[in-house]
Amino acid sequence: MTQPVPIKIYPRLTSGRFNTIRVALVVLTQLVFLGLPWLRWNERQAVLFDLDRHQFFIFGASFWPQDFVYLAALLVLCALGLFWWTTLAGRLWCGYSCPQTVYTQIMLWLERLVLGDHKARRKLDAAPNSAGKLTKKGLAHGLMLLFSLWTGFSLVAYFTPANQLAGSLWQGTLGPWESFWILFYAAFTYLLAGQLREKVCTHMCPYARFQGAMFDRDTLIISYDSQRGEPRGKQADKSAGGCIDCGICVQVCPTGIDIRNGLQYECIGCAACIDACDQVMDQLHAPRGLIRYTSAAALEGQTDIKPAWRRPRVLFYSGLLLGISVLSVVSFLNRIPFKADILRDRATLVRETDDGWLENSYSVRLINSSELPQRFVISVEGLPGIRLATANRPVALAATATETIGLRVQVEPQYAARGAHDIRFVIRSLDQPGHVLQEKSSFIGD
Ligand code: SF4
Ligand code: SF4
Repeated sequence: MTQPVPIKIYPRLTSGRFNTIRVALVVLTQLVFLGLPWLRWNERQAVLFDLDRHQFFIFGASFWPQDFVYLAALLVLCALGLFWWTTLAGRLWCGYSCPQTVYTQIMLWLERLVLGDHKARRKLDAAPNSAGKLTKKGLAHGLMLLFSLWTGFSLVAYFTPANQLAGSLWQGTLGPWESFWILFYAAFTYLLAGQLREKVCTHMCPYARFQGAMFDRDTLIISYDSQRGEPRGKQADKSAGGCIDCGICVQVCPTGIDIRNGLQYECIGCAACIDACDQVMDQLHAPRGLIRYTSAAALEGQTDIKPAWRRPRVLFYSGLLLGISVLSVVSFLNRIPFKADILRDRATLVRETDDGWLENSYSVRLINSSELPQRFVISVEGLPGIRLATANRPVALAATATETIGLRVQVEPQYAARGAHDIRFVIRSLDQPGHVLQEKSSFIGD
């Protein structure tokens, strides 16, 4: 049975092995998120999604809209990874690395810093309004808002270079879109993590509702061992079980539930109750693990926690993940380090030259998608005697640069009757000779 959840939860501070892991993950994820926009790589920002230039940079790799397939593969991998992880270990993602958990944790730290522990915060909320109360609350929320603004700035700094963004902010010349997204994301962070907190997990997050479908009897869950713990009572009571009913596992729970009532969808798997109960057991000189990571099957004494390699569902997801990862990496490593978009000039379909050949005009947009300068030569094939009107001089492009050039293609009239004929442009890199790109197009005859 689910216990009614209090209106406002004041989770008690906990410490222990799982708390240490959670804190380490909060620090690590924020170091990555807040720090990455400031990292430089080859004289540019290491991770930058430049929407204006349609170019995405991730360290040494650059991506164009033509590389959308890798983004699709990444999204599929993320979804499969979440299924795999949930089947294997339940809500570890929610408890340790979900942004909602991470930001709520940071907001709680800021609140504790200014307002004190759970008892002090509850007392302050119950106290009548006063200048002191308003000042303290204002300071706590001011800090939360400042942190939220920092997250908004960092998000936008993945799309507008961080140095440039900081400069505009300093000079008060931020553009309307940048201002909007910084404020929007900051408001979102403050509202979800500073105000709504556990309500997002218990009432708004769809994942909490459907993750049960990915569980099986061997999925790792956080459970209270009722066989050992019940009946609850004082340690001195010889007929009582292991639980002394101190209630600390409930006080530390960020969603305000009592894990002793069984698995509940409100449980985000943060393991704070394990740390708290382990400390109680240590004080009582009793074995740890009254609340622990286990599985439904293991808890019922049917089996030990089953290793991953003996669980068909985990093996299935692992195989899929491995297969798609290997395919994506191999395909990425073998991708041609340049691209070309060919556009036939539709204004003048076909023209006759002084020497009687038929001529079509094309725009060729060359993209050097590598981190090194490259020179390209372009030729054309597909019809007898087909040629370029101008001398085939190499086109030099700086690293990650693009250039559009105009080309005229000529064919003798007897090989290009009225209508469209398939031809192809062949682009070779003089600096990376193993790679040749062939782009289809058409030649209009007369
Ligand atoms: S912390 Fe442990 S001993 Fe205390 S109420 Fe919870 S389960 Fe029982
Ligand atoms: S029941 Fe335990 S693991 Fe679940 S949310 Fe509460 S403290 Fe975290």
